Parts: sequence; structure tokens; C-alpha cells
Amino acid sequence: IELKPTDFQDIKKLGEGAAGTVWKVRHIPTDLIMAKKTVTVDPDPKIQRQILRELSFLRTCGSPHIVAFYGAFLDDGDTTLAICMEYCEGGSLEDIYKRARDMQGLIGETVLARIAESVCRGLIYLHSQHVIHRDIKPSNILMTRDGQIKICDFGVSGELINSLAQTFTGSQYYMAPERIKGGAYSVRSDIWSLGLTIIEVAQNRPALPPPGQPNLSVFELLDIIVHQPMPTLGPDRSEACRDFIEKCLIKDPEERPGPETMLEHKFIKTWSDPTNSLGSWLKEVWGWP
Ligand code: ADP
Ligand code: MG
Repeated sequence: IELKPTDFQDIKKLGEGAAGTVWKVRHIPTDLIMAKKTVTVDPDPKIQRQILRELSFLRTCGSPHIVAFYGAFLDDGDTTLAICMEYCEGGSLEDIYKRARDMQGLIGETVLARIAESVCRGLIYLHSQHVIHRDIKPSNILMTRDGQIKICDFGVSGELINSLAQTFTGSQYYMAPERIKGGAYSVRSDIWSLGLTIIEVAQNRPALPPPGQPNLSVFELLDIIVHQPMPTLGPDRSEACRDFIEKCLIKDPEERPGPETMLEHKFIKTWSDPTNSLGSWLKEVWGWP
């Protein structure tokens, strides 16, 4: 089915990022609830057609660890692109850890390990489709109502990446050292970002900038990522958990394990249990009936 701008009804605004705005919407003809993200793109119709062509690859994406894609179209005006995807009712990991912080709770290692496992599986799937994510961070990892963890906002369209680069430059805080140095970018760079993501979710606040150095310039921050030791978790977390993060944050991408190797790590092996859903945990987090 073809998605058209006039077939949607806004329900509520879900959030706003550097590159766009996300709305919970109803697709009237099918009565499906979707998340609709709008971003500003180049006005050149040739570039826009190229972006739409590249995004159509998403239709063939099918993995339980990837947020499903419903379609994309040019929304009102000539520079607004709308991307429609699966609505994830549990929100992003950023929403979830902020909620935990407000309730003065810490997210346990069962959940952290399940996040690590799902992200690794999602990255393996993307890699099998020759896609590198490029923007792993808590707000790009979402939970469905029944507690499945899925990744979204990955770099499938080179032309869209170019188009957005003019208005926004990724999230420097999660950028791997090799990327900062202009080296080759691989799935292992996404593993680096996963390490920082796990720290952030575990401690209910971003891993970087390091505590006690809040006002770093971009240059100082990038210098720390390339040359200084990365933050770790405290002794209140297990040895396995801390070792997993340490492996993610190995500076040399040649030495840093890829997602397949990480799936074999004790931290994931200990907690992996496909029969145990995070649905009831999520229900408690959000106070759902
Ligand atoms: P960012 O990822 O930088 O926060 P985005 O524009 O990608 O910016 O997303 C903004 C917010 O919208 C996210 O933090 C998340 O809370 C929400 N969001 C994005 N996609 C979805 C989705 N598919 N389902 C539910 N919420 C979503
Ligand atoms: Mg996002």
C-alpha cells in the first residue's frame, strides 16, 4: 500500500531530535498506528528521488531487532521528507532510563544484557545487508509494548546522510576513535557506541563528557575519546558487565570484537533467555495497567 500525506492523522508528538520531529500518527485507510518522522532534505527533486529509492531498501528489511519500515514520501512543501515506521510504545532507552532516574531506580543487568544482545543481533542483521548503523545511542534503541528491543535510524541512504549532514552532525559523544581520526568505518564502530550506550543506561546519565569535566570544547572531547581512558562502571556492577563494556571500548578497531564475538560474551550468555520477556518489567517502568 502506498502512503500519502493526506492519509495521516496526528495523535501526539513523540519527540524532537537534531534532524527531525517524530509524531505518533494514525494511518486512516488501514487504521494502523505508526511513528512518522519528518526531516528537512535538499529541495533538488533528483536528490529526493535518490533518497526515496535508497530508503525503499528498508521495505525488504525484516528482523525482530530492527524497527519495521512502512514507507516514505515527500510531505507538504518541497523539502520535508516523511519516514513512517513501527510505533514502539515503550519509547526509547533514553526515555526509559530517564523514567528510571525519576523513580530513583537503577536498571538491572538482566535488562542491560538483553539490550546488548538485541543490539548485537540487530547489527549482525544490518551487516548481512551491507548496512552500518552509524548512530547507535539510547534514543535510537526502542522498546515495543511487549518488551522487544529494536534499533532504528540507521544509515541506509547515503544521499539522506549527505542531505542531513548540512544541518546536523551525528552524535559526537558516541563516535568511535577511528571515525574521529577519519579511518575506515565498520560495524565495530557501532560496538563502540553500544559500550557508551550501556554505561549511560546503567547509570541513568551519559558516559561522556566525563564527570567533573562538563564544559569541554568539541576538540577536547574528541581528544579524550581518541587518547584518554574511557569511563567504566563502578563495582556495583558485575565483572562480566564491566568486561563487556571494556571490550566495546577498545580503542583500536582491529582489536575490538565485532557483534558475533560479543554475542558469545559471558555477560550476554548469562542473561540470554528468549522465554523471559521484558514486557512485565516495562509495564512496571511505565506504570501500565
Ligand atoms: P533522537 O533519536 O536524536 O532523539 P529522533 O528525531 O530520531 O531524535 O527521535 C526523537 C524521539 O522520538 C526519540 O527520542 C524517541 O523518544 C521518539 N521516537 C522515535 N522513533 C520512534 C518510534 N518508532 N516509536 C516510538 N517513539 C519513537
Ligand atoms: Mg533517532
